[in-house]
Amino acid sequence: MSIPKRVAVIGSGSMGSQAMWRLAARGAEVIGYDRYAPGHDRGAAGGETRIFRAAHLGDAGYVPLLRLADRMWEQLQQETGSPLRRRSGCLVMGEAAAPSMRLLLATSTTHQLDHEVLDREELARRYPQHRLPDGHIAVLDRLGAVIRPEASIQAAAARAEQLGARLHRYTTVREIAPAAGGGVQIITDHGTDHVDTAVVTVGPWINTLLPGLPRTVDVRRVICSWHLPTRHDWFTGGAPPFVRSTPHDCFGLPSPDGHSVKLGLSFTRHLPVPEPERLVREVRPEELGTFRELIHELMPDLNPDPIRLSAYMEGYTESGNPLVGHLPGEDDIVVMAGFSGSGFKLSPAMGEIAADLALDGTTEHPIGFLAPAAVGTV
Ligand SMILES: Cc1cc2nc3c(=O)[nH]c(=O)nc-3n(C[C@H](O)[C@H](O)[C@H](O)COP(=O)(O)OP(=O)(O)OC[C@H]3O[C@@H](n4cnc5c(N)ncnc54)[C@H](O)[C@@H]3O)c2cc1C
Repeated sequence: MSIPKRVAVIGSGSMGSQAMWRLAARGAEVIGYDRYAPGHDRGAAGGETRIFRAAHLGDAGYVPLLRLADRMWEQLQQETGSPLRRRSGCLVMGEAAAPSMRLLLATSTTHQLDHEVLDREELARRYPQHRLPDGHIAVLDRLGAVIRPEASIQAAAARAEQLGARLHRYTTVREIAPAAGGGVQIITDHGTDHVDTAVVTVGPWINTLLPGLPRTVDVRRVICSWHLPTRHDWFTGGAPPFVRSTPHDCFGLPSPDGHSVKLGLSFTRHLPVPEPERLVREVRPEELGTFRELIHELMPDLNPDPIRLSAYMEGYTESGNPLVGHLPGEDDIVVMAGFSGSGFKLSPAMGEIAADLALDGTTEHPIGFLAPAAVGTV
């Protein structure tokens, strides 16, 4: 009988919990570490909701990864019996002539995605919650869905533990070092473990644990703001989550509370986070100007006075593509970082890919454009 490979997963957040699940399902001896515990709200995964969409505004290379993620979300729900993702559709809005919207439409045609283009009049008729400026269009992505991030992370981590994984909660990994004679040493305040391979999924803490990555990961504080509708029904009428690229790069989702709509902005609007452990979680009133403009111009139905504010953080790369693969020169260390504000939907696919890379050294899934040393395209 062959000895199972011993794999450390460092960080059991969005990507790490899924990696633990897939590794344990494939018979690896999995040891997870997290500075907090699955489902916490101090990193990239808080705020109750995430958008799943097939309509990615970036590289068409994401389509097969999103299809894999779509299947894996169904599998996770089935195995855990938890309602983690609800199909709702998703609206993607932007200037028809903008390169990102043109790429989205071209990708949609080439890959026969279930999309419908809505002009201004049609959008106003079906989704009166939104205003569309001249020259803009909306694309209704029927594969769109709302995911519950905290519940998903807890479900994936619990399933991994059920399958035999061990998870060290409230245990910060201080250092990862190649071991003499092969494998990797994982150093925590409680001691040192020796494993065959390490999967590093520490999200916004990546620069602290692995300084000097081949591509820069710019960690930013991301604020979300919750608003009550004043006129239109965003809930029983089924207003889907949305993403807008212009004139305000933003996203929004009707909340599971059944009353409020959560809004967030693109990374250019966010402050850098020099030290993730000192993330400023309080949101000051002077930070709300863009939310007010956005509501005034594009969703006048929402009350501009928020009922709730929160701050999270995320790692962004220049291309918007994450770093996924072996660390250059280190065959025993797999890194997944820099998901740039759109990684949650992909997380079960990333778990499957992490298991391939850690156990087989390679994957058949097309991740070449995400290689840690790749420059990537927008
Ligand atoms: C406000 C907001 C909204 C978003 N909306 C969407 C969306 O709608 N759709 C979408 O697809 N994506 C969205 N994203 C992006 C998505 O949430 C992130 O890409 C994803 O959560 C990143 O996952 P991660 O595993 O890299 O980081 P995390 O989920 O933060 O996980 C990192 C984990 O590592 C642990 N850790 C860190 N350092 C150590 C250490 N040294 N030792 C042990 N453990 C450690 C942390 O405690 C944490 O649990 C959004 C992001 C934000 C911030």
